[in-house]
Amino acid sequence: MDATRLQLFNTLTRRVEPFEPLFPDQTKDGRPVVGMYCCGPTVYDFGHIGNFRTFVFADLVRRYLEFRGYAVNHVMNITDVEDKIIRRVQETGQSLREFTGHYEREFIRDLQTLLCRVPTQTPRATEHIADIIALIQRLESRGLAYRAPDGSVYFSIQKYQGCGCRYGQLVNLNFDAMRVGERVAEDEYDKESVADFALWKARVPEDGEIFWESPWGPGRPGWHIECSAMSMALLGPSFDLHLGGEDLVFPHHEDEIAQSEGAGLQAPGRPFVKHWVHASHLLVEGKKMSKSLGNFFTVRDLLAKGYTGREIRQLLLSAHYRETFNFTMDGLDGARTALARIDECVAKLTEVAGGAAPGPESSSLVRAFVTALDDDLNVSRAWAAVFDWVRETNRALAGQQLSPVQAATALAAWQQVDQVLGLGAKSTSDVPAEIVALAEERAAAKKARDFARADALRKELKDRGWVVEDTPKGPKLKPA
Ligand code: AMP
Ligand code: ZN
Repeated sequence: MDATRLQLFNTLTRRVEPFEPLFPDQTKDGRPVVGMYCCGPTVYDFGHIGNFRTFVFADLVRRYLEFRGYAVNHVMNITDVEDKIIRRVQETGQSLREFTGHYEREFIRDLQTLLCRVPTQTPRATEHIADIIALIQRLESRGLAYRAPDGSVYFSIQKYQGCGCRYGQLVNLNFDAMRVGERVAEDEYDKESVADFALWKARVPEDGEIFWESPWGPGRPGWHIECSAMSMALLGPSFDLHLGGEDLVFPHHEDEIAQSEGAGLQAPGRPFVKHWVHASHLLVEGKKMSKSLGNFFTVRDLLAKGYTGREIRQLLLSAHYRETFNFTMDGLDGARTALARIDECVAKLTEVAGGAAPGPESSSLVRAFVTALDDDLNVSRAWAAVFDWVRETNRALAGQQLSPVQAATALAAWQQVDQVLGLGAKSTSDVPAEIVALAEERAAAKKARDFARADALRKELKDRGWVVEDTPKGPKLKPA
């Protein structure tokens, strides 16, 4: 299996390259350590399944690296201070922490519903303000940051370029139209408006009580600096992999490189990030699924329609990460059919295997699967290998050609492959695992006499299409 090596497309070099860890001598439990950062959610609302396409993809990368023998330090930040959050906090009258805490918990729960391994670390921007300030101070001391008249601090692209650094590593930029020192205060802007960007935003009346003291006066961090500060604080100034959706390439990731390499904390010749990997968008009728277009579904919308997290995961993992694909309900029904075929085959194999132990031979399924994923995570080819295997296995089962040991060997191969696909076994009852988990959480809340939480969970179960009945034998779940 080790004859081949994982190859990944790197947005930085625009080429498919072999994946090699930056620090092969750094090990954990005998495994080489890989540092991987994926830009996380802005917690002002529920995530939609477009967002989750990127996070499920990050889970695939992590699981495949783990399968390939690496110890992955998977960091995903939580953006818990930002314009939209501040606006919503003022509207709801909640504290910042109360408001973002709710959406953060729901986000992690959605990740689990989609059977993702929870990242190793999930740092919050508001808990890294000191790191952020220190990084801006360092940029200031190197002459790359300056104060604007309103008290905000900006990154100077011209000074950065003057030090021989390249702005425009991930994308080609046209600087002809750029006027020196022109500034952009927003976190999101397009390539045509490339300009100095905000590192620290001075407090304005609309911020209310949401601000931090700093050497530049009260204010809050810009979005780009958060990711530079948190990734370097947790993974060091140089790390292996940085992931995100394709919309983050510019300006977010370009600005992250400028800030992180501008701070000059890397050893000579080392980059901030070695491999930049971007997932293409999930579309609806040809357009990016997004909050602003209103063409989105959340995980809970789909659960309420009777689909499971496992089915949504299968759909989100069905296409190559560098291809956009259209979300449709038919696609989701297709995922259901695909899973049913696998589940039926696995159930029959389990029956034939009885309790037999698997034989020692290597599996053609695992070999074909690894070859496909080594090739820039070609998941569509990996699924083709899975379905070829299902077809052949079904044929052998129908002809009663499989001994218990052969069936056990086939099952073991499936389980190996499923460590990466992460589909797990089909739920044995009709109640999906995530619904059982919610019901258990509600029972625990009731026991702790936290009735508000218990009621909130009952409502959530209802929104997801389930009612809880408290019976003398304990709570029972029924479809609503
Ligand atoms: P946000 O919470 O908007 O910062 O987005 C979180 C992540 O979701 C980022 O990595 C985005 O690039 C990604 N993302 C947003 N919309 C989509 C989409 N339609 N398809 C795939 N990824 C997306
Ligand atoms: Zn980021």
